[in-house]
Amino acid sequence: MVFDFSVEPEFQTKLDWAARFVAEEVEPLDLLFPHSGDPFDVHNQKSRAILRPLRERVKEQGLWACHLGPELGGHGYGQVKLALLNEILGRSLWAPTVFGTAAPDTGNAEILAMFGTNEQKKQYLQPLLDGDLVSAFSMTEPQAGADPKEFVCRAWQEGDEWVIDGEKWFSSNARYASFLIVMAVTDPEAAPHRRMSMFIVPAETPGVEIVRNVATMGERSSLDEGSHAYIRYNQVRVPADAMLGRPGGGFAVAQARLGGGRIHHAMRTVGKCQRALDMMVERAVSRRTQGRRLGDTQAVQAFIADSSIELTQLRLLVLYTAWTIDTQPHGSARSLIASSKVAMAKVYHDIIHRAIQIHGALGTTGELPLAGWWQHVPVMGLADGPTEVHRFTVAKGLLKTAEPADGLFPSEHIPPKLEAARKRYAHILEDVPAPAGEN
Ligand SMILES: Cc1cc2nc3c(=O)[nH]c(=O)nc-3n(C[C@H](O)[C@H](O)[C@H](O)COP(=O)(O)OP(=O)(O)OC[C@H]3O[C@@H](n4cnc5c(N)ncnc54)[C@H](O)[C@@H]3O)c2cc1C
Repeated sequence: MVFDFSVEPEFQTKLDWAARFVAEEVEPLDLLFPHSGDPFDVHNQKSRAILRPLRERVKEQGLWACHLGPELGGHGYGQVKLALLNEILGRSLWAPTVFGTAAPDTGNAEILAMFGTNEQKKQYLQPLLDGDLVSAFSMTEPQAGADPKEFVCRAWQEGDEWVIDGEKWFSSNARYASFLIVMAVTDPEAAPHRRMSMFIVPAETPGVEIVRNVATMGERSSLDEGSHAYIRYNQVRVPADAMLGRPGGGFAVAQARLGGGRIHHAMRTVGKCQRALDMMVERAVSRRTQGRRLGDTQAVQAFIADSSIELTQLRLLVLYTAWTIDTQPHGSARSLIASSKVAMAKVYHDIIHRAIQIHGALGTTGELPLAGWWQHVPVMGLADGPTEVHRFTVAKGLLKTAEPADGLFPSEHIPPKLEAARKRYAHILEDVPAPAGEN
């Protein structure tokens, strides 16, 4: 096996184009429309007017919706190339929307493609892939998130309809969505992983009530800047064919969705961390203290070195995970995806913190992007599942195949191993005379 870290020249040309395009044409959108929900606000005519021609240029370059396989009209670049592109897109809030790779729409498109009927694909998948509408994923509930076995939002059949009743929490972008993918308990008596089913609910269906759009750090509820909906489904009626996947298959659909989302998020985080490191280095050679540059002090050099080392480790982990997804049997990357998710939250926290520290008071203000990125730190360890749960996945993978030690002591216990080593080479140890002073 050969590990080759070079990029094909044709694809490198595309990456170079994307890097220039994002810096010059897309990053201005981040300044004009800076809230996390803004890229999904289909009602904002001004931002949409800027967005449309930018998307056309991405399509002309063959870089639209690069997460898709060829069967969905994508280019089939695979995850490694997607990782390289996402590093560039991760530098900007708007870039994923401009390039057709923004979550949660990407994950929703994936499950529609995997589990949808032809009719569902025509009605929901195609417009989603074309970027014509926005969708939401409605799984987390007010009383439970990390453990879906605690969900209680119910759905039952009445005639040829399903009736959905219950509450959901943090359904991102629901306020802009044309449809929501909702997970509900359809068979409370079944085994925990077979209790739930997934439904496609058009947003205008009677009974879909957005209680409020919850604002996260840095967003103001008073100005209605929140985009994570607290939703009540009041006996919402959908036709029988609104179910996505099989009855009782909701858990499997959710699992299929989340793996891709997590690793794509990690790819973009590499890009955001790189941008913070670039800022750190620029500041270190621009600012002076006690007659020398900040970068000439050992403390700042340590900040820069640690950030560079940790970022390189994260980047290699993410690329290795992407390579595993591309080349190994389905499911092989599970533990690596969880590892990437855990690592990304920690590395992002550490690098953004150091970047703020190096910029002093200025780093804490809204006059640099760092303060906004810092507000996103806790989200990294929560969205798409908490760090603790992903750690558990990594550990469980290792513990599952581990064997207990034979006997009282660990298999690496030195006394019996030394005894065995002496026996193994006894014939030589006995024949060759020991140096003077040894026996
Ligand atoms: C910005 C953002 C966007 C989101 N978008 C969506 C969305 O579009 N749709 C959607 O359905 N959800 C969404 N979520 C919700 C997200 O998936 C949940 O926040 C996440 O699954 C954790 O659930 P919870 O918040 O209820 O925390 P809980 O489940 O209450 O967990 C709280 C804490 O308890 C600890 N914990 C939990 N379980 C374990 C365990 N097994 N072992 C050890 N410790 C544990 C962890 O420290 C964890 O952080 C979003 C969240 C955020 C922050």
